[in-house]
Amino acid sequence: MEKYDITVLAEKLYRDGDLTDDELSAVIESGDNDDLLFTLADKVRRDHYGDEVYLRGLIEFTNACKNDCFYCGIRRSNRKLERYRLTREQIMDCCKTGYMLGYRTFVLQGGENQYFTDDRICEIISDIHSAYPDCAVTLSIGEKSRDSYERYFAAGARRYLLRHETADDGHYRRLHPSEMSPDNRKRCLFDLKEIGYQVGSGFMVGSPFQTTENIITDLRFLQQLQPDMIGIGPFIRHPDTPFSEHENGSLELTLRLIAILRLMFPYALIPATTALGSIHPKGREMGLKAGANVIMPNLSPTEVRELYLLYENKICTGENAALCKSCLENRVHGSGYSIAYTIGDVRR
Ligand code: SAM
Repeated sequence: MEKYDITVLAEKLYRDGDLTDDELSAVIESGDNDDLLFTLADKVRRDHYGDEVYLRGLIEFTNACKNDCFYCGIRRSNRKLERYRLTREQIMDCCKTGYMLGYRTFVLQGGENQYFTDDRICEIISDIHSAYPDCAVTLSIGEKSRDSYERYFAAGARRYLLRHETADDGHYRRLHPSEMSPDNRKRCLFDLKEIGYQVGSGFMVGSPFQTTENIITDLRFLQQLQPDMIGIGPFIRHPDTPFSEHENGSLELTLRLIAILRLMFPYALIPATTALGSIHPKGREMGLKAGANVIMPNLSPTEVRELYLLYENKICTGENAALCKSCLENRVHGSGYSIAYTIGDVRR
């Protein structure tokens, strides 16, 4: 690894938007010149997006899930968790609050809950779309058939978030039970793109068994997919999962990867995630300074927030939406950026 000068590699990545696998590996593994990486990434983000930070109001509408991902606190086998689902009225109330606060994108996120049939999902999408035609309806409800994705699109959904989690098949199988397949997850992402959605993908940093090689496979997969949004955040353990004893992902590596992503995908929407804010009190601010340009404030009713616990010590579970907004404004301004209260489309 010592054959590389990280300063030279950072400048090459800034200039060319890419490096060889060996060079990427050197940058990922070295913490030597993170400040330079962050400075270059911030320059690229300002060239594309100025100082604007986009907001996505997150509505965690159910924590019931048919899947059993080994890392996730809302996995099917976690019998300790009380399950919930919001009613249509509750979801519309969340949107109303979000709209009043100035948010113009609503993200419906949840476990893969079979109560929410395609008909029910389409009704919710149409309700939001007709009440707030100037807002983008985003879904993050997991792996579905192409036909389902087409129905949601026809109902008015225009964005979809589905992290690929890991692009390496062997690694994927160590994070998921055998009934889940990496090919199907990737198939979903390409279907969503073909249908015309703005697509978000991404992965956890420091998930159990992850290697530098796996991360490079993730970056190459993202180059192939060319998603509009790329969400990464540290893996954080949850006590009631098979990975309860594993180490959390590191703040430093997550920030370095945000900067690398910004340099490789200058156009991308990159969130400073809740998980990043959960492993360090200033995690999201540091994420913004490393190249992130999106924050996803929580719009879920306060009484269910504690139940959407994907990992331990998740932040913002006790506050209401209005408090979240003023807290975020302070954080964003304090970091040298400004909030854009717009729909916040990708700038390709
Ligand atoms: N069911 C939908 C799906 O599969 O995309 C959306 C909900 S899922 C809980 C949202 C994301 O949470 C996942 O893509 C995963 O990356 C992240 N996540 C789950 N458990 C986590 C953990 N322990 N630490 C960090 N992120 C986690």
